[in-house]
Amino acid sequence: MKIYNTLTRQKEEFKPIKENEVGIYSCGPTVYSSPHIGNMYAYVCWDVLTRTLKYLGYKVNNVINITDVGHLTSDADSGEDKMEKGSRKEGMSVWEIAKKYENEFLENLFELNIELPWKMPKATDHIQEQINLIKKIETNGFTYKISDGIYFDTSKFVDYGKFANLNLEKLKEGARVEINQEKRNPSDFALWKFSPVNEKRQMEWESPWGVGFPGWHVECTAMSTKYLGETFDIHTGGEDHIAVHHTNEIAQGYAAFDCNTANYWMHNAFITFGGSKISKSSGGLYTVFDLKEMGFDPMVLRYMILGSHYRKGLEFSLESLRAAQVALNKLKSYKVESLSSYKVNENFKKEFIELISNDLAMPEVLALVWKVAKSDLSLEEKWATFLDFDRVLGLNLDSVEQKIVVPEEIVELNNKRILFKKEKNYIEADKLREKIKSLGYLVEDLENQCKIRPIT
Ligand SMILES: [Zn+2]
Repeated sequence: MKIYNTLTRQKEEFKPIKENEVGIYSCGPTVYSSPHIGNMYAYVCWDVLTRTLKYLGYKVNNVINITDVGHLTSDADSGEDKMEKGSRKEGMSVWEIAKKYENEFLENLFELNIELPWKMPKATDHIQEQINLIKKIETNGFTYKISDGIYFDTSKFVDYGKFANLNLEKLKEGARVEINQEKRNPSDFALWKFSPVNEKRQMEWESPWGVGFPGWHVECTAMSTKYLGETFDIHTGGEDHIAVHHTNEIAQGYAAFDCNTANYWMHNAFITFGGSKISKSSGGLYTVFDLKEMGFDPMVLRYMILGSHYRKGLEFSLESLRAAQVALNKLKSYKVESLSSYKVNENFKKEFIELISNDLAMPEVLALVWKVAKSDLSLEEKWATFLDFDRVLGLNLDSVEQKIVVPEEIVELNNKRILFKKEKNYIEADKLREKIKSLGYLVEDLENQCKIRPIT
């Protein structure tokens, strides 16, 4: 299998450390608000990665962490703790907030048919591991203490800017208005932050340096190496993590263990919305549950995400979501109720393996799906081949509930059409029928009811 490695900026042949076994660490959510579809994009992409590796015969140990402490509003260690902020906003304790949004994250994984990871460690359950890691980094001479915490001296790690091609000189120039005047270098980051004097934080712990909490980057190095070893196979995250979070994780790994903690670093692009990145600050974000209320099965979103390449991202619009819905319904219409023989087409399977092994070429995989659909294979062979592909696609094609969901919008248009018909306004009624057709659905007027079905 070939994957694009951010370390070398090229596609590389994937060579696991242990034969037939892969360790993957994915940076998880900070559980302080509802995950929106932009957050979930990454987890669908990495689910495709783990499913692909399993399909290719590997045993996969994948870890997604839960960040429930230490992530400040700015990734560069300034601003407020996101968890404490969420707690104040909702009038709940930080612990309640963490539980609430961890559960929501799990529900999202379920809705999007993302396989539960092997481990889902929480930062607050690993404070001792984080303290031990900082001690190691300190013993090896990479830390210094200032008034608000223990910091990593990035000038001690010669290759600091290499991973992200950072221009450290420029960073210095840009940091003239540095908020924290005590830091030795603008890129230095907090390993342990002291609780503010005269203020009790809801989350704080004793440490050899004083009462406080770990810096955000520490948890990922501590937990990834605890579960997967000092060097493991793949580390994933959003491309916004390259410059700060992952650069700092790599620095911590070298300082503590004198090695790169991961051999392959993979990064996903984002869902964009009218050209700009979906982020919490841009507002108006859909969650999977919003889309469900609008009549979209979460598998439609998954199908839409599969149509994008993880390194390119996805431009989101309701129109393209509707198109995905039509396509998915069409795919489901190939279902053979009871397969008498489960015969996967070997030629198409070979093509499929080539595509998934080429840095997860999912848009091409979907094109292959439609090539199979249009081929002259028997219906049974087509469906058996789809079910085999679905081990990676994860569209739940074989689920017992195969009901075709008609979006609310179509139902409403049809209700209007029926009204026009009752009023004998056939011209308007036909116009609506055409409109519904242009959106991918056919209406059939039966004696006492009206049936809507997708055009296949
Ligand atoms: Zn992380």
